[in-house]
Amino acid sequence: MSGKDFRTRLVEEGILIPGGVDGLWGRSGVFERIFDGLDRAITDAGAFARPEVMRFPPAMSQAVFEKSGYMKNFPHFAGTIHCFCGGDAAHHQLLGKMQRGEEWREQQQPSDLVLTPAACYAVYPVLARRGPIATGGHLVDVQSFCFRHEPSPEPTRFQFFRMREFVSIGTHDEVMAFRQDWIERGSAFATSLGLPFEVDVANDPFFGRAGKLMADSQRSQNLKFELLVPVNDDAGPTACISFNYHTTYFGDIWEMRTPDGAPAHTACCAFGMERLVLALLKHHGFDIDSWPSAVRNILHL
Ligand code: AMP
Ligand code: ZN
Repeated sequence: MSGKDFRTRLVEEGILIPGGVDGLWGRSGVFERIFDGLDRAITDAGAFARPEVMRFPPAMSQAVFEKSGYMKNFPHFAGTIHCFCGGDAAHHQLLGKMQRGEEWREQQQPSDLVLTPAACYAVYPVLARRGPIATGGHLVDVQSFCFRHEPSPEPTRFQFFRMREFVSIGTHDEVMAFRQDWIERGSAFATSLGLPFEVDVANDPFFGRAGKLMADSQRSQNLKFELLVPVNDDAGPTACISFNYHTTYFGDIWEMRTPDGAPAHTACCAFGMERLVLALLKHHGFDIDSWPSAVRNILHL
């Protein structure tokens, strides 16, 4: 391959299509072919456990978002949806402002929608409404486009990206066994795809001064692990899959209970789909047909 950096090559080959704002990317047919293959391969990897499948739009209700506590921990990532709700006069005013290059968005009204920051957030209120979690726990396979306001020139940091997750809800022992199992399955998955990686303890980028304490506490309790793959040039490896244990955080918020009436524990294994596609392109090259046949087979390519 040429000496050009990875991002430049992705753009020149048309695999990533710049959207005019850092982290806002369109994607080519090649990218989506790999994406679809990965999606199927993840389905294959999780089929043994017969998860309940749920798919959600890229937004969630404001009520669910508020109750999830996202603004306490990650206000800097959140995106809210605002819409025009005025009449003819307000419309006229808006167009005038736009034409003069003035700020017109102050006329937009908040809708009841917030962009989804993590796929699993949509699952908990659905399960809570059903009553106690079944004995043995429950497993969900969820996917959603997610939004995080973290503009960056790095090709692995999208503002809109797709997150596929297996989510376990049950007792402490059930969800911890799930997470350990998926750390191993996720590692075997990356190995089978021919990706170099390491698994390490990690923390979420909590906001502000209090966030530092949250991050330290998350680390010291081993609540989050990440599978990291070298993808960007001259930079540390990129988190492509995360394995999270939330204790009873969501069980308490949503009053999800195990059969004995105790708050449910939850854990999730989250695949960053775009990052995995980029990792495959980085390590196997831009010509899918020349990828190792074992990798192509797993991805149904
Ligand atoms: P997290 O909830 O931060 O653990 O995110 C789950 C997974 O989504 C991560 O392991 C990444 O693979 C992926 N991810 C997180 N943020 C981004 C981003 N800005 N762009 C692309 N993928 C991301
Ligand atoms: Zn999750």
